[in-house]
Amino acid sequence: MLKPVIDYDACEGCGSCAEVCPEVFELRDDGKAYVIEPDKCDTCDCQEAMDICPVEAINLIEE
Ligand code: SF4
Repeated sequence: MLKPVIDYDACEGCGSCAEVCPEVFELRDDGKAYVIEPDKCDTCDCQEAMDICPVEAINLIEE
């Protein structure tokens, strides 16, 4: 199964992923997005969040 992971060095904290998919991603006070529920995307396999990320910090890995 594929699950999303954040490249924390690349993430610039824009919050877009958490806006399009708040069930999976959360922007925290440290200015980074975190995957809170990797299995919650049942519509697009996180493709929408990956597409909207301006720095391509969201990747899918095989669990
Ligand atoms: S969209 Fe990308 S840069 Fe913006 S908060 Fe999410 S992971 Fe970070």
